[in-house]
Amino acid sequence: MTITDLFWAHSVSLDFLRSFPLVLIMDCIHKTNRCGLSLLKIIGVTSTNMSFFVAFAYIQFEHVDNYIWVLNTLRSLMNDIALPELIVTDKKFALMNAIDRVFPTSRHFLCWWQISRNILTKCKKMFETRDNSWNFVVLSSIEGEYNEHLATMLKEFCTYPEAIDYVTQTWLNPYKEKFVTVWTNSCMHCGNVTSDRVEKAHAKLKRQLCSGQVDFECSWTKIHNLLELQHTDIKASFEKSLTVVQHQFRPSHFRELRGNISIIALEIVLVESKRAEFTGIDSSACGCVIRHTHGLPCAHKIANYIRQGRPIPIYSIHSHWRTLEIVLELTCKPELEMIVKYFNDCDTTKQLEILKKLGEIANPESTFLIEPDVKPNPRGCPAHKKIDVSIRRDPYAFEIVQSGHDSHSPKGTQMTTLASVQVNKKRHFKQKVFLLPGHPGNGPVSMSSLAEASSSASPTTSMASSNIGGVSSSTALSAR
Ligand SMILES: [Zn+2]
Repeated sequence: MTITDLFWAHSVSLDFLRSFPLVLIMDCIHKTNRCGLSLLKIIGVTSTNMSFFVAFAYIQFEHVDNYIWVLNTLRSLMNDIALPELIVTDKKFALMNAIDRVFPTSRHFLCWWQISRNILTKCKKMFETRDNSWNFVVLSSIEGEYNEHLATMLKEFCTYPEAIDYVTQTWLNPYKEKFVTVWTNSCMHCGNVTSDRVEKAHAKLKRQLCSGQVDFECSWTKIHNLLELQHTDIKASFEKSLTVVQHQFRPSHFRELRGNISIIALEIVLVESKRAEFTGIDSSACGCVIRHTHGLPCAHKIANYIRQGRPIPIYSIHSHWRTLEIVLELTCKPELEMIVKYFNDCDTTKQLEILKKLGEIANPESTFLIEPDVKPNPRGCPAHKKIDVSIRRDPYAFEIVQSGHDSHSPKGTQMTTLASVQVNKKRHFKQKVFLLPGHPGNGPVSMSSLAEASSSASPTTSMASSNIGGVSSSTALSAR
């Protein structure tokens, strides 16, 4: 079997992912191995603001279909109630389309640093001397400010119509919500508005892989070693936040937070508490950006707590910053209760079937399914004869006879079978709508829905635990 796409993730990385699902950053690089496959890297961010590799995927083509397969595999490894709120990428249409389909509830940002770099390359003359105009536009924090800065930029550079056209038509008009501060600030991004992290992580990865001509096993081992080091560093950063009390966090309004949230979160709250001296409890002076973008108390809230003589409450801190250990408490209790209820409502035959299935789940080795032997035909097939690879059974004689009488059967008593469809096929699809026995409601099924049903019956993906190159067997691996 030739592998075209390969997804893999370290089991500890997946634990990190389930604990820190908030922001994911993705980037694809080309030809990282001698097979010439592209490598999609998926990065997450911890409460201590450290990056971690969530997963890697080697893909044959950077097409929507390949990305959808990767993202669906990723989603199947996540907890459905904790999906990413934000995904940051570069402008790659196929990846963007796949994100829209697999994570429709997540916000998507384009890396504004990459956009600025593209614009500076493309419109060098325009920004040669006065390159701040673009930054003013991108960093606008309210819509009125954005319109003002945009109008100023268009006026200043009216002698460069092509560049203005590129900036507005390629970036601002279609994508401003994905990178201009006024829109990105409406989402909790914890400061991740660029794909900078993935660039840095890539530099480390590149040092490990050394050459683009390494084989899978070699790159697997090297990446695995890199991940183990990363996990150790992250756990050390948790330990530091739990145990080290820095002098600047000694004031009493920090007492509920010290040792309970990450040091980086404490530092942000400290900056906001200094700002509180100027804003007071006035929310309009505060702007409340940190509360929306980081899930931390903003200046006016802190001023309010201090005025009431209360410490900043731990519940005002988003759970992302409070997570300083990887303890996942998954439970199957609700599902088991549902199964028991369903079991009690079933008849004995169904109950025996359920017991058999539960036995297989509890003991996967006990499956009674055996793959059939394939017996090759020693004489081979005549070149002109088409091989029938369909999963349909051969028609019974009465079905062929009955199908011949279908057109004479009284309405309502007609039983058209798959076999009769085969016969009808020879009649150039005169009958395009038919009834499938056993179909819910026995309603009409169109030819296209039958085709969909038969195509969905052929699995294209599989999940497997593997032990390649001495790497942990608990690593998730999926190939197709
Ligand atoms: Zn505020």
